[in-house]
Amino acid sequence: MRLAERVATITPSSTLAITAKAGELAAQGFDVIGLGAGQPDFNTPEFIIDAATEALKAGHTKYTPTAGLPALKQAIIDKLKRDQGFDYTPSEIIVGNGAKHVLYLLFQALLDPGDEVIIPAPFWVSYPEQVKLADGVPVPIQTTQEQHFKINVADLEQAATPKTRALILNSPSNPTGVIYEKEDLEPIADFCLKHDILIISDEIYEKLIYNGNTFYSIAQISDAVKKNTIVVNGVSKSHAMTGWRIGYAAGDAVLIKAMTNIASHSTSNPASASQYAAIAAYNGPQDSVEKMRQAFEKRLNTVYPRLVGLSGVSCIKPQGAFYLFPNIAKTSKACGFDTVTDWVAALLEEEKVAVVPGAGFGAPEHIRLSYATSLEKFQTALDRIEHFIKKHTN
Ligand SMILES: *Cc1c(COP(=O)(O)O)cnc(C)c1O
Repeated sequence: MRLAERVATITPSSTLAITAKAGELAAQGFDVIGLGAGQPDFNTPEFIIDAATEALKAGHTKYTPTAGLPALKQAIIDKLKRDQGFDYTPSEIIVGNGAKHVLYLLFQALLDPGDEVIIPAPFWVSYPEQVKLADGVPVPIQTTQEQHFKINVADLEQAATPKTRALILNSPSNPTGVIYEKEDLEPIADFCLKHDILIISDEIYEKLIYNGNTFYSIAQISDAVKKNTIVVNGVSKSHAMTGWRIGYAAGDAVLIKAMTNIASHSTSNPASASQYAAIAAYNGPQDSVEKMRQAFEKRLNTVYPRLVGLSGVSCIKPQGAFYLFPNIAKTSKACGFDTVTDWVAALLEEEKVAVVPGAGFGAPEHIRLSYATSLEKFQTALDRIEHFIKKHTN
């Protein structure tokens, strides 16, 4: 079968690959601990499930407007006002099949062949692939753990060209858990305004922030910055709703309309029942969100000291999301492996612990461990990792 050239340019998601391999081992009867999860391990709150069930029974089983039900757009507008003080109108909102889909539509609507998008590394695995699928060119900016994985204006000056159309910011970050402060964002926002670079702010982990840290959206800086920003968010991480597939973008009405046109000829509207669930999620009580946040915080504070106590492992303490992203280059070398990816493969084979190699995130010296799993399992996984390191360094 001859396939389109664009297929060859994309690499399959490394997160999903490790999950598949771990699943295979589990199916063979092995006791595998998966730390690859990119989703909360909690179920969707009951009242949200009820809202979807009731909507279905009431006959809301048909198409909706492509960009989402007016009531859902309003719930999103109210959420943005409540949480960040933003004023958006319905024509500035699109609801899609998850934030991932919304980002896909965005690149399709924004990029001409050769247009460049700046992506700070480590990055979420789908950003560069989605840019390539839109015939764009991903331009990564390498950052290090020492600089807390944050980019600055000097980095942007190096990376920007006349072809730069957009910058992606993801705070809190998957995979590093780092949060950009207002002071970090102001010069970045100025630079983007001056050079007419659209800011894409992926705020999907907004609600998962720990130990007194706070969230600040770059679009809060000023009206001008808000106009130059497209905010992407959704219910997947905040309300444990990954399977419902509801995400949204808020920004320039012309861009939102173009994204809507593309959706109208591809996916049409996101599932009707899921939209009713999302209305309940945003309009209903938020205490279940806070309960999940607290559970994640407790896990983080429990496992972090043990992780950084492992020989040759260094890791900054994440401020948000639900991942740890340690540099294990020293450990991997001491264990006799050429690459961290080989170390990860051997760990799964020998100790039945699945973690994600950092290469797919643009950080080949790192691994990503998700604590969207029980404390007990995570502790056992750390026992096994410790055993693995001892075994290979002796
Ligand atoms: C999970 C995730 C998303 C997408 O989530 P959806 O389920 O598609 O809404 C987007 N960005 C980042 C960084 C993520 O981790």
